[in-house]
Amino acid sequence: MTKPNIALIGLGLIGSSLGHAIKKHGLAQHVSGYARSRKTRETALDIGFVDVVYESAAAAAQGADIIFFNVPMGAFYSLAAEIMPVLKPGAIITDVGSVKASVIEDISPILRSDVYLVPGHPIAGTEQSGPTSGFAELFVGRWCVLTPTPETNLRAVETVAKLWRDIGSDVEFMDADHHDMVLAITSHIPHLIAYNIVGTASDLEADTRSDVIKFSASGFRDFTRIAASDPVMWRDIFLRNKRAVLEMLSRFNEDLTALQRAIRHDDGDTLQSMFSRTRDIRKSIIDAGQDMAEPNFGRHNKTDEH
Ligand code: NAP
Repeated sequence: MTKPNIALIGLGLIGSSLGHAIKKHGLAQHVSGYARSRKTRETALDIGFVDVVYESAAAAAQGADIIFFNVPMGAFYSLAAEIMPVLKPGAIITDVGSVKASVIEDISPILRSDVYLVPGHPIAGTEQSGPTSGFAELFVGRWCVLTPTPETNLRAVETVAKLWRDIGSDVEFMDADHHDMVLAITSHIPHLIAYNIVGTASDLEADTRSDVIKFSASGFRDFTRIAASDPVMWRDIFLRNKRAVLEMLSRFNEDLTALQRAIRHDDGDTLQSMFSRTRDIRKSIIDAGQDMAEPNFGRHNKTDEH
């Protein structure tokens, strides 16, 4: 089979990492790219993870066999509507968005009958953004979840799954609603907590002139890393995964109230039993190869007091 022409719509962290990986493994005949700003397009071309860039998504997608959406999720609908008339028959639209049911809701109503939609989400990323932040190994050994519907063309699903496997990811298939529920608790709520705690600390610092930032220990610093993630991308994630996030947040609040009560009533047994259970979860994540066992995430810094 001849290699596909691939269009990357969005050339930031994920788009550039895809471009690097596709080039490194020789997975495309030709890679075209689109980004909103001239600066990003020129940078992408200079770095060389695309062969050509265009000022419009439609121009980049024309003639492509596989079109990847790597933009904030709020832009999916309008970009899909823009490219739909020019796509070649048999083209596959896929994406990397962090919420999956909303992609199906946004794009399915305008999907042409001879074009396929294969929603996807690589569970890989950093807090960096933009075309210079990507690297070919970002997806290696990480999960990529595909959430086709029962109507999705199986050959299109297999084409996208093979591409992710060739890039080095492990592919898992899931129902979109289930994906959104799992990611709400594993990714979205942790980000919300990080944004909130860093916001609270910075307000405190401003209000009381305390030294919260100056003496930040590793716990707080780890939150600041997460809270440095792209604001537009995360705005869109919360607005698009509203139902699952609100459901998980209400469970979270109940558990937090139980911890609050335990502290108030000097109930050390409850606290210790909860903290032991969570330690076991950390161990199972390391056993599953999803993180390193080294102390302090492998950082060697003598100022890492807790
Ligand atoms: P990013 O580094 O900020 O790059 C975003 C890209 O989209 C840029 O090329 C930007 O163009 C373009 N763009 C932004 N707003 C646009 C708009 N309204 N219309 C057209 N183009 C627009 O973002 P990213 O981290 O790669 O994230 C992209 C997608 O990947 C998101 O949907 C996110 O949910 C998903 N994702 C992210 C991660 C992660 O850790 N970052 C992980 C998994 C999935 P300009 O540079 O010209 O502005």
